Amino acid sequence: MRILILILVITCPIIISAQEAQLYETVNYQNAVKNETRSRNGKPGPMYWQNHADYTITVRLDTALKRIFGKESVTYFNESPDTLTNIVLRLYQNRYKKGAVRDDEVHPGNIHEGVELDTIIINETGISLESHRIMSNGTNFSIPLENPLPSKSKLSIYCEWSYKLPLEPEFRRTGYYKDNAWFIGYFYPQIAVYDDMEFFPNMKGWDYMLFHKGLQEFYNDFNNYKVTIEVPEGFFVWGTGSLTNEEGVFTNSLIERLDEARTTDEKVEILSKDDLNKDYLVGNIWEFEANEVPDFAFGTAPNYLWDGTSILIGDRRIFVDAAYHPESVLYPQVIDIAKNSVKYTSEVFPGIHYPYSHATTFNGMLSGGMEFPMIANNSDDRDTVFLTLMTFHEICHNYFPFLMGINEKRYHFMDEGLTQFFTNRFLWDKHGMDFYTNTRGSVKSIGIYAAYNYFCVTTQDNSSLYNAYAQNDMNNAFYQYLIKPVVPFMLFADMIGEDKFLFALHEFVHRWKGKHPTPFDLFYTMNDVLDENFNWFWNAWFLDFGYPDLGIELQDNQAIIKRMGARALPLPVNLTIEYKDGTSTTISKSMNIWKNGGKQVTIEIENLENVKSISLDDKSVPDINHGNNYIEIN
Ligand SMILES: [Zn+2]
Repeated sequence: MRILILILVITCPIIISAQEAQLYETVNYQNAVKNETRSRNGKPGPMYWQNHADYTITVRLDTALKRIFGKESVTYFNESPDTLTNIVLRLYQNRYKKGAVRDDEVHPGNIHEGVELDTIIINETGISLESHRIMSNGTNFSIPLENPLPSKSKLSIYCEWSYKLPLEPEFRRTGYYKDNAWFIGYFYPQIAVYDDMEFFPNMKGWDYMLFHKGLQEFYNDFNNYKVTIEVPEGFFVWGTGSLTNEEGVFTNSLIERLDEARTTDEKVEILSKDDLNKDYLVGNIWEFEANEVPDFAFGTAPNYLWDGTSILIGDRRIFVDAAYHPESVLYPQVIDIAKNSVKYTSEVFPGIHYPYSHATTFNGMLSGGMEFPMIANNSDDRDTVFLTLMTFHEICHNYFPFLMGINEKRYHFMDEGLTQFFTNRFLWDKHGMDFYTNTRGSVKSIGIYAAYNYFCVTTQDNSSLYNAYAQNDMNNAFYQYLIKPVVPFMLFADMIGEDKFLFALHEFVHRWKGKHPTPFDLFYTMNDVLDENFNWFWNAWFLDFGYPDLGIELQDNQAIIKRMGARALPLPVNLTIEYKDGTSTTISKSMNIWKNGGKQVTIEIENLENVKSISLDDKSVPDINHGNNYIEIN
């Protein structure tokens, strides 16, 4: 039987309405455009500026006292057009200070007296820590400047500090784990970002958002670091940047193994089980250097296993390594996963060369994982799917946000959305894995869309523009990080084609690497590079509220497909027509049929007498209400 002619009739005007055409912008972004630091073609404006600092840090881990003792000299460069009247330091570990405001409980055993700042000297003038003019607010510490810092000038800060490390088990990204394994991040007084976007009362452009719980992540300038680390004898150290005194810490035989790992694609057991409790160290002072990176962190342990290898990316060999507990069952797999991750991100998706000299995975956290520049602090819990996901995901963060300097405290959806999009793509492409269902071999995207349908009907759902600061539990973070922002990036790439998506993304990276892009800079760059106005999509999926729900009605021989609800999101249409003879056909329409703001489209169905049912795809398209997706006809 010859069946069907389907005619798609769009019943709305084809010109994009003014409301759809214009991107919603926050007022601070509009001001940035006015001040020419940003521009609506997505490029940094001619007046774009960014501050930065040089840190020289000496730090000692005292495992008996369970404390960090540090000293730092910082030179801070004010490139802004403003005269700065105060300096904001971040004391992250005040999250554990007795009486601190927190989003949720921390283990009572981890609560302490806060970061003890013993000395602060600014431009050679000692600062009285008792001064009532110092504002200490949670993890922020604002010091008024005796002599304000003019535009295009620098100041120096010297300080000494110590704090007690968290020891008790809980979800945390730094502190003590087990068997003398420590990961030290967020450990030094860090100058907050002063930028062209922030505007806190009395704080002007300082990023004054607190670090309440630790679910908030990074927003840092690109700085240079020289870090000297003293650990107990017998402890190895893995950190951001390059170890500059290898001969001062490693025996020659260990350096030979390292050199081998740095030049071969094969896995080298730099420290195997046979090496445990043997002497491979000649010193306990470790010197690292890292330039133009947003942070510095390190892991340390005695008697860890250490696998290494390398991979040629472009004209550089990237060193890939994993340091882990000798009893870990899963971790011996990490080195291969990590190497494949660097290869995949560099050559396939997103297809941007890995930006740093090494990718280290350190086995610290008791559950989950956390990225730091060039080094991740990852658990060995759960299973191979999770290990693969986590290893790739944390390595991928070296692009977003570490290469891109995204303000994750506000716009986590940029870095988590893109990172998890790439992660899902890697899991499918290389392993046939769906993280959301922990299965192999079903249809790509079904798991995440089902998860999205489940979460987006809860009160946790709101505009992505707002979400990062509202993080207050792990469930919400899981949704806001690994589901909600991933879905629109997937849909967008599907709509325009992956090649075009990556082409535009590469240009975004090219324009903004080492800078602080906002979502508007991303969206305008995409529009500019693709030479098309996608504001109807960015508005709906990232900036506004809304949920996905297409419904179908039949009037005579017309199937009317409706966007349900006041702010129903634009979605692709897959209409399946099932015939009485058992055959079926599916007609697919791109999401851009909604770009004019239309609320319904009509599909005419011929030979209706032969049709058994019509239905809208609610599996490979997000859709919260499956009840309006199916009509039985005959
Ligand atoms: Zn992440």
